[in-house]
Amino acid sequence: MAAARAAFDRWAATKPSQRTILLFKIAELIDKHAEELALLETLDNGKAIFESKNVDIPGAAEVFRYYAGWSTKIYGETNPSSEDFFNYTLREPVGVCGQIIPWNFPLLMASWKIAPALACGNTVVLKPAEQTPLTALFLGKLLLEAGVPKGVVNILPGYGETAGAAIAPHMGIDKVAFTGSTSVGKEILKASAGNLKRVSLELGGKSPNIVFRDADLDAATVGAMLGIFFNQGQVCCAGSRLFVEEKVYDEFTDKVGKFAGGLKIGPGTDPETKIGPLVSKEQHERVSRYLEIGKKEGAKVKAGGDVANDGDLKKGYFVKPTVFTGVKNSMQIAQEEIFGPVVSAIPFKDEKDAVLQGNDTLYGLAAGVWTRDVSKAHRVARAIKAGTVWINCYNLTDPASPFGGFKQSGWGYENGQDGIEGYLKTKTVMVQL
Ligand code: NAP
Ligand code: MG
Repeated sequence: MAAARAAFDRWAATKPSQRTILLFKIAELIDKHAEELALLETLDNGKAIFESKNVDIPGAAEVFRYYAGWSTKIYGETNPSSEDFFNYTLREPVGVCGQIIPWNFPLLMASWKIAPALACGNTVVLKPAEQTPLTALFLGKLLLEAGVPKGVVNILPGYGETAGAAIAPHMGIDKVAFTGSTSVGKEILKASAGNLKRVSLELGGKSPNIVFRDADLDAATVGAMLGIFFNQGQVCCAGSRLFVEEKVYDEFTDKVGKFAGGLKIGPGTDPETKIGPLVSKEQHERVSRYLEIGKKEGAKVKAGGDVANDGDLKKGYFVKPTVFTGVKNSMQIAQEEIFGPVVSAIPFKDEKDAVLQGNDTLYGLAAGVWTRDVSKAHRVARAIKAGTVWINCYNLTDPASPFGGFKQSGWGYENGQDGIEGYLKTKTVMVQL
């Protein structure tokens, strides 16, 4: 913290184009070490190397590249005023930013946090999740190699209850940016009151993925599966509630069940693996518990429904990709975030019913809509209360498009121009002429 404070004034005063050069350089270094970083991510988290290589690592480089361009495009305004005044605004970095990230996309989340903060001239103390600190530490090394001055970014591995909990109440930190569970997010918000630091929160979700009968059902099958089984379902915006129009419910859930049953489960390091292990014993137990809850609540197992422990799989925290059918939106498995490869397929009658049930959740992070009807797609996109709506696709993010939660899924945005706004404050200057 002291290092970040000491580095702040000089860093905030760097020429914007110099920060652009550094951010581009970081992206290049991530690309250069992509193989190593992908392997490290998979070893640390367990995720399939196929995903680390194609999503996590290139995504991290991309976000530095995107924000590199922003350093030189941060403008204040001249404000309309009476003729004897000249009023304008300055955009200034917020200051020292404490950033806390989860274990599901370790390097990507570190990059979503660090890149916009640096583009705006802030300094950073970043706490990675205790399960997955390795790629964040590697990134720290690359930042120094790129020429980011010492103290500007401080990677501080440690436990949530100690290192993490020290950040929000700290009087010397100006902003806390958190990604993780809704319960810890609420604690952070309370703990931040001491100096009224800025707070941004990216929290949980129970996102509806809505399939209408007029959709391309083959494409929707792949989309529904990617929506929940990507990263073993350990994704905040996972499409964990799969709403299917009644008339195609049986046909579609058959397709989905078959698809889920065919996914190759294996160690993350195997290039053929589609479903790797969960991140930890704790997560494995949590998901197993929900599988039992689902069965007790009367949901039917269409695929999976159990841990995977044949042969060598015994050694890891594997769960079979699971499709529950006959689920009601009021069931616990449809209301609580499982954060594992478990989807609840819920029937709906018509568009109105889909929206009503889709919005019946505490969360509002994301949603998916599958239909060939353009008007319906846009109507539903408007009606759904969520920060991101995907039409005929799912689980995609783009550094240029803001990502954030409605309702109890969070406060504030990452990515895009909104991501920049979160790391700036505005100063008004009034000049009497
Ligand atoms: P978590 O406990 O909230 O952990 C997230 C981060 O917060 C970790 O770095 C953790 O450190 C730290 N932490 C824990 N307790 C803390 C405290 N009292 N004060 C400050 N920091 C603290 O979440 P998790 O259980 O590991 O991860 C799963 C959850 O994260 C899911 O519920 C999911 O919804 C949410 N998530 C949301 C997003 C999103 O973008 N919205 C992304 C990923 C995950 P340690 O790991 O060292 O304990
Ligand atoms: Mg934790």
